Amino acid sequence: MWSSDRETHVIIRNVTVIDGQRAAPIADAEVVVTDGRFSAIRTAADARPAASGAFVFDARGGYLVPGLWESHTHLGGLASFKPENERAKYISELLTEFLSGGVTSVVDLGGPLETELAARDYRSRATDTAAGLFFAGPVFTGINGWPVLDDPERASIAYQTDNADTAYRRALELADQVDFIKCIYDGEPGAPDKLPLDALKAIVAAAHEKGRKVLVHVHERIDLEEAVASGADGIEHAFRPQDPRSTAEARDIAALLTETNTYYCPTLVTWEQIARNGEAGYLQTLVDDGFATPEDIPQITSRPIYGREFPRHSAQDARVRFDYAMRTLALMHDAGVKITAGSDVAMLMPSRPAALLRELQLLAKAGLPLPAVLAAGTRHSAEKIGQQTTTPGTITVGSVADALLLDADPYADIAHLVDRSHHVGTVRAGRPSWDENHPAS
Ligand SMILES: [Zn+2]
Repeated sequence: MWSSDRETHVIIRNVTVIDGQRAAPIADAEVVVTDGRFSAIRTAADARPAASGAFVFDARGGYLVPGLWESHTHLGGLASFKPENERAKYISELLTEFLSGGVTSVVDLGGPLETELAARDYRSRATDTAAGLFFAGPVFTGINGWPVLDDPERASIAYQTDNADTAYRRALELADQVDFIKCIYDGEPGAPDKLPLDALKAIVAAAHEKGRKVLVHVHERIDLEEAVASGADGIEHAFRPQDPRSTAEARDIAALLTETNTYYCPTLVTWEQIARNGEAGYLQTLVDDGFATPEDIPQITSRPIYGREFPRHSAQDARVRFDYAMRTLALMHDAGVKITAGSDVAMLMPSRPAALLRELQLLAKAGLPLPAVLAAGTRHSAEKIGQQTTTPGTITVGSVADALLLDADPYADIAHLVDRSHHVGTVRAGRPSWDENHPAS
């Protein structure tokens, strides 16, 4: 029986460890977890007898990788469609669903602060049966800017400003309550719905004073360049190139991101969905690639968003961004860009974890080497929000023990990571989800 005592020792044997950091996997290893953190990772030759009362798990020759990260999603915003007293529970259920898809950490890039705080509190009571939650709270945007537009229902997910001084003060306050700060920097320069550049700079300065990272949503190449010049730590969304026929812009941007150590989250799944929304062939592709079943299709096509234009983002624009990112991400990776994995909206996906797994598959289709795909879905996503010490997205002694057990080598075929039939179970804060546990006597 599993005991939730604080003093717990878990030993996972007969496993190949891919720690998400070193080049070489550690074959036939033994992983020891003490009080929810990795305490030893050693080869079977160095194995020690299990302490009495330790829980010993046989991984049956599987592969243990760091738990996956969904590094760009919006749970708080979704929850606002639920009655207020059900929102925290709803988000907690989504976090449980994420864990069942191999995702141990979820990064919410914008939602109402009260909902996020309540959700984290609610979830902390079920820490080892749901994914961890990190959140931005409300995003900074211009007056009636994305994603508020002029819809009052969306007002709680953003802080609208056209003034650098008030933005600075608000960012200082917010930084004490959230894990990182998110800004929207999208729109015509000088238009009231675009965050002014001096406000963006002030927000970054305030966040950095408080030791918080800043992620910036961009659209055009110039947005990206100005966000980087303002000190952004991460860029969200593949930028739209001026000349999609040439890879020159991707090379320039890659040099800029590498030189400034800025993370890049292309959100391919979102552009693919917006570009192909309403196209029957798209849902068939999801079935063929193993991300949906034929039974999911009627449920997806009955959603109100199905076949409808996404606000502010045309299908044509999304197509350009998607195609260009798919063509240039490998060269950006080769140039040294740290790519992160986030799916953003899951409007046509059967589930949220499926959206993240699809994102990882698309990164592989774009030509990233498989270790780089894993880094995008683990370590880089943790680093992007400054979690490299406690929850670093690696299997490292001293860090929170979050991992995913696979039955086949994820460096041999991307399907071994993204096809859920290869997922044996997760380890969340030291607790394995698969059945075979028994205390060593
Ligand atoms: Zn987003």
